[in-house]
Amino acid sequence: PVRVRFCPSPTGNPHVGLIRTALFNWAFARHHGGALVLRIEDTDAARDSEESYQQLLDSLRWLGLDWDEGPEPFDAGRTAPGAHGPYRQSQRMEIYSDIATRLREAGHAYRCYCTTEELDQRREAARAAGRPSGYDGACRDLTDEQRATYEAEGRSHVLRFRMPDETITFTDLVRGELTFTPDNVPDYGIVRANGAPLYTLVNPVDDALMGITHVLRGEDLLSSTPRQIALYRALADIGVVDGAVPEFGHLPYVMGEGNKKLSKRDPQSSLNLYRERGFLPSGLLNYLSLLGWSIAEDRDIFTLREMADAFEIDAVNGNPARFDLKKAEAINAVHLRELPVDEFAAACEPWLRAPYAPWKPEEFDTEAFAALAPLAQTRLTVLSDITDNVDFLFLPEPAVDEKSWEKAMKPGAAELLTTARAHVAESAWEAEALKNAVLAAGEAHGLKLGKAQAPVRVAVTGRTVGLPLFESLEILGRDRTLARIDAALA
Ligand code: GLU
Repeated sequence: PVRVRFCPSPTGNPHVGLIRTALFNWAFARHHGGALVLRIEDTDAARDSEESYQQLLDSLRWLGLDWDEGPEPFDAGRTAPGAHGPYRQSQRMEIYSDIATRLREAGHAYRCYCTTEELDQRREAARAAGRPSGYDGACRDLTDEQRATYEAEGRSHVLRFRMPDETITFTDLVRGELTFTPDNVPDYGIVRANGAPLYTLVNPVDDALMGITHVLRGEDLLSSTPRQIALYRALADIGVVDGAVPEFGHLPYVMGEGNKKLSKRDPQSSLNLYRERGFLPSGLLNYLSLLGWSIAEDRDIFTLREMADAFEIDAVNGNPARFDLKKAEAINAVHLRELPVDEFAAACEPWLRAPYAPWKPEEFDTEAFAALAPLAQTRLTVLSDITDNVDFLFLPEPAVDEKSWEKAMKPGAAELLTTARAHVAESAWEAEALKNAVLAAGEAHGLKLGKAQAPVRVAVTGRTVGLPLFESLEILGRDRTLARIDAALA
C-alpha cells in the first residue's frame, strides 16, 4: 500500500510552497487509498520552535489536509496516531545514534577529522585547479594509527557517509530517468561533531523505518536524492529495511515576483497572509494544486475531493510554476460564490465580529447582514473585503472616502442630489422603484443613470463603488437614506 510523508521542519511560518508539497502528498495518498504520515523534522533545536509546530498542525487542520499517522491525531474522530511513532524526530534520537553506530561498524560511514579550515582550503584549491570541489575523501581510509594521532591532537570528528563508487540512476516520477555519477556525489556528513544527527541521516532513516513508499517533495531537495538512495541501500545492508528503495518525485519550483524563486522570506509566500485575507481553504488549495498540475486543459475550478480523485503524479509538470496572486483571488472568488449563502454569511463572521471591525459590536445587525449577504457574495474575492462593502449599513454615518467624495460631488451634483432626494422620498421603498426614482432625477438634469447615481451612492455609502446601490438603499431603509442625503447637502 502507498505510504507517503509530509515532513516539515517547524521553523517560522508555513509558506505556500510547503503547503503545495503537503497537498500533493495528501492527494497522492487519497488517490491511492494509502496513508499520509505527518513527521516533524525537529532535530535542529536552535531553529525549531513549539509555536511553529503548533502553527503547522493548525494550518493543516484549517485546510482540511488530514493525516493518518502523526504526533497527534488530525481530529477527535481519529484515535490511532499510527504504529511507527514517535513522529517527532526530537523524540527519536536514540534510534539515530544506534543506526549511525551500526553504519560505521559496517563500514558505510567513517569518522572524519578534517577541520573546517582544512576543508575550506582544499575546496578552494580544487576549485582553482578545476577539480570537483566536494569532499575529497581524506579520512575515508584512515589507519588506526592515523586515527589515534588525530584523537591525540584533540580533534573532533563528524561522521561521514561513504558513497559507493558507482553511478546512481533512478526514475523520478515527475522528471523521468536521472543519473548521478560518483564525482557529483561526494561523501557527506550524517552526524555532527557534537553527536547531533543531520537531516541527511534522519530523513532517509525515518522514511525506511516508517515504510514510506513514495517521496514527493520540492525540487530543491533533488541533489540529496542520490545520497539518500545510497544510504537506503546501506540501511538494507545492515538489516534496517528489506531493501525496497522508495520512489521519488520532485515537484517544480514555485516562482514569485520577477520570476525569482518564491522564498520563505517573501511576504507573498506566507500562508497566514492568505488566511487573514479571507481565502477559503478550498479556494487556496484549488489554486495551489495548479502549481505544477492540472485536472484538465480547460478546467481551473474543482474541489479538493475532485483533485484527489483525479490526481496522478505523472501528470505533474516539472517546469517552474509561477505564483499568480490575481489568479489565486479569481479562483477563490468562484469558491466563495459557490457556497450556500448561509455558509458564506457564516464565513464572513470572523471579520464582521473582529475587534478591529470599523463599527461598534452593538451596531452590527445580523438580520440586516443576512439581507445584504447575497449581494456581497457575488462581489468578493476574499472575505476580508466584506467590511468595506457593508460598513455603510452598520456605521451611524458613512465612512467618507475623500477622493470618492470629490469625484462624485462635482459642480451640479448638489442640484442633482436635491432632485434625487425629492424623487426618492416619494418612492415606494423597493429597489426597482428607487432605481426609477434616481433615473427620473437624472433625466431632469440630462444625465444617464450611471452618472446620476454616483452622488447618491457617495452620500449614502461614502464610496463611489460598492454593492448594487438600490438593493442597498432598500435594506438601509428610508429614514437613514434620506438623512444621509440631507447631511451631504447641508
Ligand atoms: N524537513 C525537510 C524540509 O522541510 C523535509 C524534506 C523532505 O521532504 O525530504 O525541507
